[in-house]
Amino acid sequence: MYTNILSLSYLIGSVSFILGLKMLSTPATARRGNLVSAAGMGIAILATLFLYQPAGTHFHNHGWIVGAMIIGAVIGSISARKVKMTAMPEMVSLFNGMGGLCAALISIVELGRIAQDHTDMHVLSILAGMVIGSVSFAGSMIAYGKLSGKIKDHTFVGQHIFNLVVLFVILVMGAFIIHGEGAAPVFIFCSILVLSIGYGILFVLPIGGADMPVVISLLNSFTGIATACAGFLYNNPVMLTGGILVGSAGAILTILMCKAMNRSLKNVLIGSFGETKTASGQTNGAQGTYKEISLSDAAMVMGYAHEVMIVPGYGLAVAQAQHTCHELEKVLRKNGVEVKYAIHPVAGRMPGHMNVLLAEADVSYDDLLELEPANEEFSSTDVVLILGANDVVNPAADNDPSSPIYGMPILEVGQAKMVIVNKRSMRPGYAGIENQLFFQPNTSMLFGDAKDVLHHLINQIKEL
Ligand code: NDP
Repeated sequence: MYTNILSLSYLIGSVSFILGLKMLSTPATARRGNLVSAAGMGIAILATLFLYQPAGTHFHNHGWIVGAMIIGAVIGSISARKVKMTAMPEMVSLFNGMGGLCAALISIVELGRIAQDHTDMHVLSILAGMVIGSVSFAGSMIAYGKLSGKIKDHTFVGQHIFNLVVLFVILVMGAFIIHGEGAAPVFIFCSILVLSIGYGILFVLPIGGADMPVVISLLNSFTGIATACAGFLYNNPVMLTGGILVGSAGAILTILMCKAMNRSLKNVLIGSFGETKTASGQTNGAQGTYKEISLSDAAMVMGYAHEVMIVPGYGLAVAQAQHTCHELEKVLRKNGVEVKYAIHPVAGRMPGHMNVLLAEADVSYDDLLELEPANEEFSSTDVVLILGANDVVNPAADNDPSSPIYGMPILEVGQAKMVIVNKRSMRPGYAGIENQLFFQPNTSMLFGDAKDVLHHLINQIKEL
């Protein structure tokens, strides 16, 4: 009886994950999708706590389990409520790392079972969970440090070969354990654990030059796979489904990100792309002169334009100016201007950052153009207004082979009749490189915090 209710709860949990994931695919249903999945997860946890009977006995240690859940829930909800939108990617990395750590810990706890009755598949899942979980944990911690500016890019000569050797040693040791007879030596497990953590650190440390989005989605996928291994180990369908969904969604996102950045997946896996170079990509010398535009002139050209394309970037999130931006859009529309948004897949600091930001301000999804359609539209656009974007509009990605972002498709805003760039200074963006766009004849700089500038523009356009 208990077992039937438990199986039904797991089925409900699994179905809710699939439905929730489907609902997450559009902003209109995303919030509900999140709640549906969370409810399914809640049912699965409660059912496990009260109905799971390993080998005919009852679960014990309820006090410890519920206590840990309360502490985790309190920390999680307080930090999720308090986190600034711009610090969201760091938090996602941190939480993803915790998922990887949990999967690795499960494998470590289950090590004891290996000496007893075991199959090769069980040993394989324990090892895979430990290796993938530890890589995900260590890599996510480094990604967290990099996104929050606490850790800089580091690399050394021959690092790619070194990374490959570490991977190879992990695989050989794993094969030794699987094919070995009797109890596996604990020191080999410990060595695999240490090497996996080392590999996680080494493969994320050199990634720079704006390639972090790919690594973040890859780490996310790793955590899913590690969780699926634990689900297999415990023969727990809801854990298996959840892990497979996260793993495959992360893998699909990684492939999409690789495409968006024009990078190869093989290079991501051995941590050998986008290292920060000190070549001419980081040009610090004179780049020519840039011109500024006043607020009133900017308001005038936009107010009388036929079509304005807004390019949001990380700076818009920093300024929390998404609502003001939507306000500007409405004012321009009142003046008969056609307004669209050009969204670069890696703008901001997390996959889909700009979509989330603009959805929060109720910007219609129909007005958002992805990279390719936006690039087709720029040549017929009167004014492009860049709000706190930099790397995603940097022509060095097209024309400077020494640049760390070379090869990444960009929004080709330079084709528009006029480009207005709003940022606070001439400082570079995430990749740390100069942007030639700012010095082109059809570009004008509009300095200031995005929110203040937008407020002024709105007021001036209303007076036109
Ligand atoms: P960038 O980081 O290239 O540039 C952001 C610009 O915003 C800066 O140059 C800054 O200039 C300006 N800015 C900052 N604060 C404000 C403000 N209050 N008001 C106005 N402007 C402001 O951003 P992009 O979105 O163009 O590119 C994203 C970068 O981040 C890419 O390199 C991407 O690869 C990387 N990345 C993306 C991730 C993702 O998943 N999307 C994850 C990790 C990294 P100033 O200081 O002069 O104001």
